[in-house]
Amino acid sequence: MPLRTSWAKDACPIARGADVFGDPWAVLVLREVFIGNNRFDGIRTQLGIAESVLSNRLRRLVEAGILCLEPYISGGRPRNKYCLTSAGVDALSVLHAIAGWAQRNTAAPEGKLMRVICSLCGTDSAPGFLCASCGEQFELSTTSWDHPNAPGRVISLGKAETIENAEASRFSAAP
Ligand SMILES: [Zn+2]
Repeated sequence: MPLRTSWAKDACPIARGADVFGDPWAVLVLREVFIGNNRFDGIRTQLGIAESVLSNRLRRLVEAGILCLEPYISGGRPRNKYCLTSAGVDALSVLHAIAGWAQRNTAAPEGKLMRVICSLCGTDSAPGFLCASCGEQFELSTTSWDHPNAPGRVISLGKAETIENAEASRFSAAP
């Protein structure tokens, strides 16, 4: 028996989107992959999440076509890391929408705000769909976060692993 109702086939796109992003762990796992923390142990440590819950959310994000599995060997053991598919990269606007709404409508502890830096024009603005200065859409390759969880360190999202650069590095590693 399913744990909850699935809205994956609902006619309403808000319902279908909520089916994927309507879970705090799924959204926070996605945030970690965007900032380059894309290995199981790293995500578990950062989020303080139970292994079974993390396995479940990663599996759901893979099934939803947002993350892809990228096997690698560490210490002679096979392990998995997770990269963003094109649908995953497209979820940047979802994370910015959630963050923008929260900054407008919820209290920030100690007034700590998140700023999004656009490398096209070099200015920073509140999280949103478009850069407030040059009007361009925030893209992975041109976006950095000045994030309350990493004070004093600007996080370039261009370093996030995507399916394209995972395949490119696999190709270049071939003999
Ligand atoms: Zn800009």
